[in-house]
Amino acid sequence: MSLTLWVVKTLWKANSLKGSIKVASADHMKSYWNEKMETMPFKELQKIQLEKLKRQVHHVYEHNAVQKKKLKDAGVTPDDIKTLDDLAKIPFSVKDELREHYPIGLQCVPQEEVVRYHMSSGTTGKPICCGYTWNDVDTWAEVMARSLYAAGGRKGDVFQNAYGYGLFTGGLGFHYGAEKLGMSVIPTAAGNTARQILVMKDMKTTFLGCTPSYAQLLGEELEKEGIDVVDELHLRLSLFGAEPWTDELRERVEKSLGLKAHGGGAFDHYGLTEMTGPGVASECEAKTGLHVWSDHFLPEIIDPETGEQLGPGEKGELVLTTLSKEAMPFLRYRTRDITVLDFAECACGRTHPRIKKIMGRSDDMLIIRGVNVFPSQIENVLLQHHELAEPFQIIINRAGALDQLVVKVEQRDTKVSRDSLKKVLERELRENLMVSVLVEVEPPNTLPRFEGKARRIIDERKVY
Ligand code: ADP
Ligand code: ZN
Repeated sequence: MSLTLWVVKTLWKANSLKGSIKVASADHMKSYWNEKMETMPFKELQKIQLEKLKRQVHHVYEHNAVQKKKLKDAGVTPDDIKTLDDLAKIPFSVKDELREHYPIGLQCVPQEEVVRYHMSSGTTGKPICCGYTWNDVDTWAEVMARSLYAAGGRKGDVFQNAYGYGLFTGGLGFHYGAEKLGMSVIPTAAGNTARQILVMKDMKTTFLGCTPSYAQLLGEELEKEGIDVVDELHLRLSLFGAEPWTDELRERVEKSLGLKAHGGGAFDHYGLTEMTGPGVASECEAKTGLHVWSDHFLPEIIDPETGEQLGPGEKGELVLTTLSKEAMPFLRYRTRDITVLDFAECACGRTHPRIKKIMGRSDDMLIIRGVNVFPSQIENVLLQHHELAEPFQIIINRAGALDQLVVKVEQRDTKVSRDSLKKVLERELRENLMVSVLVEVEPPNTLPRFEGKARRIIDERKVY
């Protein structure tokens, strides 16, 4: 055998062996997509961050007039960035700037360098638009491959991608990452549940990507159709992102999709269009937070009221700086997402800091008669009730001069009386939220289901 052939064969064998490991174990957890970068000593990681930060500030300053003016007005030049602490000198970026300079006023490369544009849904007004160079697309695939691998995905897995394809970043983000990892990708896209189930059965899907709302819908549909998820399906893993979800929901979906029974589980994934889309932070098999891929995204936590940086373990708003992005980089972008940053090394051996599950948003926090209410608090109460189906709606209106919080829930079946359910829920919600709540119990299958992100909050107090 020629040497080249031998090398090729040996490499091929090693690769297919890597792919054949399926069941989670301690060794499995200590295995990485990019071992060097993911387990690098934190001090070394910080050196890389500083070098990239300096380069990024130069790039933004030199290639975008709007961003240059902003830095100048704040009295910052690229040479002022000498340590990571100097980050605090840089002014924040916010979503409104993207809207103001829509579509590409904040771009830092000429248009011919851009190979792709995505836009975010823009539920409150104009959408935002973000461009990618080829390097940006490649980095995106890398962070997605790390994320899918950290959840337990391997070459040989069949990945059904039920995230929306198109302007939304979810579909293509997961797609490129899963291909880079070497999984067999089936781009079903969101929706058409009957076909999703058919594909899942016929292609023996092992790894599902979709929003948690869609996973609930799929679970319900599988139950309705009487499909035995353990015997008839092969789903082992899922990576859910794009919207908040709870640990209670994790348990439910792990059961309704048969993930646990096949030795896997459901993992949380976080991202936002402004940073790249999905790929910013992802849960590993230790399930103790989401690793922020910090050689590409530099995280900070700030007090959303004062803008002051907070220490490790303190709860506040996540601020991110893109360290690698070329087409549309952002310095200190305020995500509005509330979480906690943990720098302790993880049981999985990865050194990249972890964020806790997103606890709400500093801007979608509901203020009901002066009390701060996060929708996740309501969801946590509802999910304790197995007599309820997953969908629910939160409506805020005014009863006279006062805010009125209405929670619409849906019965799974009609065994428990609507009246008694209403009473119990109203009491539990009042005790948890410290405000009174009006509960409306709807019959089975009447509240809307969503194929992408759920729209569960209707604030009728707002006047546009
Ligand atoms: P849009 O703002 O149009 O919804 P994005 O898709 O960029 O567009 O949404 C990003 C936002 O989605 C994040 O800032 C965060 O609030 C939410 N999000 C994404 N992933 C998660 C997650 N795993 N848990 C909680 N919230 C998430
Ligand atoms: Zn970990």
